[in-house]
Amino acid sequence: MQVIYLDNNATTKVDEAVFEEMKPYFCELYGNPSSMHYFGGQVQSKTTEARKRVADLLGASPDEIIFTACGTESDNTAIRSALEVLPDRRHIITSRVEHPAVLTQCRNLTAKGYRVTEIGVDGAGRLDMDEYKKAIDDDTAIVSFMWANNETGVIFPVEEAAAIAKANGALFHTDAVQAVGKIPINMAASKIDMLSLSGHKLHAPKGIGALYVRKGTPFRPLMVGGHQEKSRRAGTENAAAIIALGKACQLAGQFMEAENTTVKAKCNHLEKELLAAIPHARINGGGADRLPNTTSIAFEFVEGEAILLLLSELGICASSGSACTSGSLEPSHVLRAMGVPFTCAHGSIRFSLSRYTTDAEIDAVIKELPAIIARLRQMSPFGREFLK
Ligand code: PLP
Repeated sequence: MQVIYLDNNATTKVDEAVFEEMKPYFCELYGNPSSMHYFGGQVQSKTTEARKRVADLLGASPDEIIFTACGTESDNTAIRSALEVLPDRRHIITSRVEHPAVLTQCRNLTAKGYRVTEIGVDGAGRLDMDEYKKAIDDDTAIVSFMWANNETGVIFPVEEAAAIAKANGALFHTDAVQAVGKIPINMAASKIDMLSLSGHKLHAPKGIGALYVRKGTPFRPLMVGGHQEKSRRAGTENAAAIIALGKACQLAGQFMEAENTTVKAKCNHLEKELLAAIPHARINGGGADRLPNTTSIAFEFVEGEAILLLLSELGICASSGSACTSGSLEPSHVLRAMGVPFTCAHGSIRFSLSRYTTDAEIDAVIKELPAIIARLRQMSPFGREFLK
């Protein structure tokens, strides 16, 4: 069965060129980049190049990049560091729609005596900036808002939010795991102190991430031990993956325009055709500024999991808005924060495209999905009742 992969916000295919770039660093050039000898030095010159490539994509300087194991580690490091460098401040601000890598950590910190404010969003998923301005005070150590939401693709005004944090003496971190490689980012013209990214969201392998830390920002490492990453992240470098991330960032820069034209056009086409063909459907976050590759569509009176299973039988991979990782059928915290009615939240499906997505794949979804939704609605007494 041919796979139609429309779940790129979950993870992406490793680009062939990225794979080629990293391959020699397993069995041939396997030296430790921190070693003094020539063999390790060869690896180090490639990881140095990779650091520059990552920095270039962000408009940053290479020494502002710290390699980590994943987006989650970068998020955890940034928040923990801010709390350590500003010990007199005991307040954390984040949003209700963050990824668990931020949200769970912030909630856990309440047990350590921190005050946590989770800023809400409106019906389109837009951050409530008035609530944020009221919440921030001279006790706030760190503000952490995601750049773009993984479920809806809604983009937050992080630059404006960072300026407000700075004016209040707080540090500002953004989880840009879904934004990097999809929309232009220029840290040189920004007030953001720290930014997290993850390789496997932009065609590098899983298990590599990075944390941008602005030059001059006080910082405390999460991982201590060796002197790798200038003592900012101990642990022998995952050299092959670092080299892969560098290549992936270089390619993301080259494809940035296509992402915002070609990929965006495919995503818009998918939305338009599905809304035209399927009654009682709506875009979660429609009307808000969104990532070019992401659409979350609510189909009323059906279960998202049922849609996914039937799509999966056809080789079509998407994701449910109600990611029931815990086995519960609770709709996602993101859709709940947006006030999406239960009947819509339960039937929400996220399609996330990439530069590999073809027109034929989009057409296949447009062809198959209306019949799937109609069939499921017919099978459900609830659906039949409402759609009478
Ligand atoms: N933040 C966001 C917005 C994400 O979408 C993800 C992954 O889905 C993460 C953080 C975690 O990244 P990683 O899987 O690299 O730990």
